Amino acid sequence: MSSFEQLRQEMIDYQLVARGLHDETVVNALNTVPREEFIPTELVEFAYRDSPLPIAASQTISQPYIVALMTAALELKPDDRVLEVGTGSGYAAAVLAEICDNVYTIERHRILADTAQKKLKELGYENVQVMHGDGTLGWPENAPFDAIIVAAGGPEVPQTLKEQLTIGGRMVIPVGSSLESQKLLRIRRISETEYKEEDLGSVRFVPLIGAAGWEDQTAEIPTVTKHEDELNLSELIYKSSEHFANISDVNLDELMERIGDSRVVLLGEASHGTAEFYDMRARITKELIEKKGFTIVAAEADWPDAAHINNYIQGREPDALLQSKPFSRFPTWMWANHSVLEFTHWLKAHNDKTASSDKKIGFYGLDLYSLFSSIEMVLDYLDKVDPETAEVARVRYGCLMPWADNPSMYGRAVITREYKECEIEVLRTLHDLLEKRLEYSLANGEKFFNAEQNAKLVANAERYYRTMYYAENNSWNQRDQHMFDTLQSVLEFRGPQSKAVVWEHNSHIGDARATQMGARGELNIGQLARQEYGDKVYNIGFGTDHGTVAAASEWGGPMEIKQVQPSRIDSYERVFHDVHADNFLLPLRYPLQELTRKKLLTERLERAIGVIYRPETELQSHYFYASLPHQFDEYIWFDETHAVEALTKETIKGMLDTFPFGL
Ligand code: SAM
Repeated sequence: MSSFEQLRQEMIDYQLVARGLHDETVVNALNTVPREEFIPTELVEFAYRDSPLPIAASQTISQPYIVALMTAALELKPDDRVLEVGTGSGYAAAVLAEICDNVYTIERHRILADTAQKKLKELGYENVQVMHGDGTLGWPENAPFDAIIVAAGGPEVPQTLKEQLTIGGRMVIPVGSSLESQKLLRIRRISETEYKEEDLGSVRFVPLIGAAGWEDQTAEIPTVTKHEDELNLSELIYKSSEHFANISDVNLDELMERIGDSRVVLLGEASHGTAEFYDMRARITKELIEKKGFTIVAAEADWPDAAHINNYIQGREPDALLQSKPFSRFPTWMWANHSVLEFTHWLKAHNDKTASSDKKIGFYGLDLYSLFSSIEMVLDYLDKVDPETAEVARVRYGCLMPWADNPSMYGRAVITREYKECEIEVLRTLHDLLEKRLEYSLANGEKFFNAEQNAKLVANAERYYRTMYYAENNSWNQRDQHMFDTLQSVLEFRGPQSKAVVWEHNSHIGDARATQMGARGELNIGQLARQEYGDKVYNIGFGTDHGTVAAASEWGGPMEIKQVQPSRIDSYERVFHDVHADNFLLPLRYPLQELTRKKLLTERLERAIGVIYRPETELQSHYFYASLPHQFDEYIWFDETHAVEALTKETIKGMLDTFPFGL
């Protein structure tokens, strides 16, 4: 027996049966519903206490004994239709749903109605319908009811509710002229016009507020009269965000307004293996392409691999045939997944119907991990345009060749002076290439651009691996500087009017100065882009609380589908989880409520899952301090997320040779 089951059994014995409540149906129902599921996480240990407990919107979940007493007083039969006024946490509705086939429940606080609905669904209570509204008006479309239970105290019995009872129907309701205490009444409808009233004892409930209840302005209803700065952070975020149900039909008009005429839009992700992050980025990118003329998609991928996607979506033959197939390096699932595949098809279809080559979308890789395939690409290019220079380049790049399988060993060999540096050699090749820029690019601008970027990448990657052993932040900075420089080159190549969407991890696109990275002297593409483009760059972070993620346990390890732990209590993720809304966009640069942004400024922990996820050491491995509104212009939240689905050989069987994913 789990500890909750044991506590539940004790609750039945000591709080219900010992007080004389023996109704077997009701006792069984309370013994089945997991009350701990309806309690705020931080109070869950008190789930079976003999008392009401606070829930969101300054309301309460009723004491178990009161729920049992009122339910028993309704004298329910399985085929009764029941109406509850005051859903609150949804707990009593679940108890009712254990007994009757049809339960209807109304709650005046949207945040409670939404949360209860979600929870009831999650627990499999398909026979409960939740409505947000004023329950004193009943639910005429579903009336008459065999039983009505009112879980808040009003000044009188609402006439409308009485009229929605069947003949023989029962209503249990707390009534009293004081907010301090009420009488619990049972009203029985005898005929069309006659009702019988019984007093079941004294109780104390939160006020029933509505047309036939207390007025909205009562001092005791703080959530209604609360001034903005009295709302708690969850309520503020709820009010300040745009909620949505599905990625496919979320309305992005307001987001497009906020992005305005930005030249660069940076889209983040809180892991490298979450489908929702990819799919939402694809959705936003499509809109930017269609509505704002963006033509560049730049990603945290290797340049040569991304060039394959680029050629594919632009209907061109692949460049050189690489020894290693595109997207076959660890972590393969980061790009070879179903979300990216679907997006690639969309880009191709879009380009196929775009006549002007200027307007076709290009897909570019910003990262620098492709040292050796980039060398191959440069040599292949030179072999075609200038075989003599190719021979010289081949000799120079030969300096790096002993390290082809493990470039990080190159840095170690240099630092221990077992091997000479190759810097001069790679820079010379780059220099030779750039010297002939005019001559080469006249022949084929795009092909030259591609080779030039690969040669720059080789130079930067050589330095990256060489400095990796001096200081960590140095090589991090070189990587992000390379990514930013590459973005700049692409923007320049595509012309002065070009606009780019960038897909990278939050840790690259969020402004490093607003995180612990800044304090360590690390910069990133988000910071560099802001410094260069000011308010013409818009960056959007993504987050999640729990679910599954595709990640490895160590570098080079196999992909696993791992459970993402629910977020830590002291994290931003927990703040967003406590909003109790599935998905939302939270504008931070143009906040819907300035106070929300202000309250979020206080530094908190933030989670970053990369290609590796180690839940066992989550705090040390994945959390860092940040000030979210300084880091991002907007934040997109998915409370629950799912792992990306990696492509397999099966999935891509029969695809053309030009297909960009070689597994
Ligand atoms: N049955 C709930 C449970 O199991 O958690 C407890 C309900 S709580 C004591 C009373 C609820 O009634 C509050 O959530 C309050 O917002 C709601 N309420 C008050 N007036 C209401 C009205 N006119 N219509 C709907 N809900 C109302």
